Amino acid sequence: MSELKRLSESRDLTRIERIGAHSHIRGLGLDSSLEARDASEGMVGQLPARRAAGLILQLIRQGKIAGRAVLLAGQPGTGKTALAMGIAKSLGAETPFASVAASELFSLDLSKTEALTQAFRRAIGVRIKEEAEIIEGEVVEISIDRPLSAASGSSGAPSGAAAAGKTGRLTLKTTDMETVYELGGKMIEALGKEKVQSGDVIALDKASGKVTKLGRSIGRSRDYDAVGAHTKFVKCPEGELQKRKEVVHCVTLHEIDVINSRTQGFLALFTGDTGEIRAEVREQIDTKVAEWREEGKAEIVPGVLFIDEVHMLDIECFSFLNRALENDMAPILVIATNRGITTIRGTNYRSPHGIPSDFLDRLLIITTQPYTEDEIRKILDIRCEEEDVDMSADAKVLLTKIGTETSLRYAIHLITSAALACQKRKGKVVEMEDISRVYQLFLDVKRSTQYLMEYQSQYMF
Ligand code: ATP
Repeated sequence: MSELKRLSESRDLTRIERIGAHSHIRGLGLDSSLEARDASEGMVGQLPARRAAGLILQLIRQGKIAGRAVLLAGQPGTGKTALAMGIAKSLGAETPFASVAASELFSLDLSKTEALTQAFRRAIGVRIKEEAEIIEGEVVEISIDRPLSAASGSSGAPSGAAAAGKTGRLTLKTTDMETVYELGGKMIEALGKEKVQSGDVIALDKASGKVTKLGRSIGRSRDYDAVGAHTKFVKCPEGELQKRKEVVHCVTLHEIDVINSRTQGFLALFTGDTGEIRAEVREQIDTKVAEWREEGKAEIVPGVLFIDEVHMLDIECFSFLNRALENDMAPILVIATNRGITTIRGTNYRSPHGIPSDFLDRLLIITTQPYTEDEIRKILDIRCEEEDVDMSADAKVLLTKIGTETSLRYAIHLITSAALACQKRKGKVVEMEDISRVYQLFLDVKRSTQYLMEYQSQYMF
């Protein structure tokens, strides 16, 4: 379990530091009646698609999405990934979001079904409740109720000049006997310095010796005579201590697979070099997770799996998806394409979006539309804020114009590079000159194609 703890801590860290292409998306920006607000939670425009995504959210929340998937159909850069991310964010901060392009699934290292399985398991979260740091043994309450000055001399009993002359009752809650002996002296010391009062229940941190007040003493049920003649140990309910120590980790099934499949498993998560994971490993993990669920130690958090360029999947991948959607832990599957009628990969048949008809049957289809100039300006505004870039009004007008004539994504990329150009000339605010400079330095797709056509003969084929 400590591997899981490290894992969830490091995930939190990367989450804080990364400003990804969609980091400004915090939800779908809907009001309580699921109507899309013009601009909200980082989302701008695309109102009908966001409204439809809101209904999908409702289906998910009512548990009615099983066996179905969502298809986002629309031109590149019209916010398909952003919408899928918006659905995941609306489902809660812990909801995993995994995104993969269909072409990535075809690699030499992994079979396509293994790559798809990994993608699915990256989108299934496990919320594990762990009672960390609980020391083995029963929880006991120790009380000392005699004149403390008389304590010295009795076997293992705490003593100390600081406590001389004091009487009263002091209680320590702990879970192991060793702590009792070791910390007994510190209790007296604490009382001597009058940090705690008679009858208080305190906890002592073994490492730092710090005293924390837990509350007042509760009734006794069992007495011991371990430390000294007048020292009482009282068994107490375990609830309070355990509740204080309950820790919740959120990890994905894929992460559990990886850390259990290799000696260097934990590091493999960072290099991405996970290799094929054996079916037996996954079976063991599924059995373990099922046990944890049964015991109330873990819950499954179905996430969102986004597969872009879905027309690149072949017929076998679609059969896999058909089966995978029936699994009770299945994530919400959102697929996207910008193709119309095209050939289904691996067959000679053509179909809408290159998707076989049995899979098409499962889909709720949402279309996305190109953005207006005003919407592009608002999205660029949000991105400037997200990237902490100050930009003059003129520069924003120019960047919006570039966005409408090239693509939204290209314009978004220019924000970062223009900020660097501005930094280089020691400016504080990105001006038109910075935008023009990076526009000349980096080609958009249209100009790049034009350039290639002009200088075709100089390239090797
Ligand atoms: P492709 O088909 O090429 O994968 P896409 O349709 O998935 O493109 P995105 O990647 O979602 O498009 O959009 C491009 C950029 O614009 C991203 O940074 C995205 O977060 C942002 N974006 C797109 N639509 C919106 C929107 N409605 N509101 C805010 N940001 C958006």
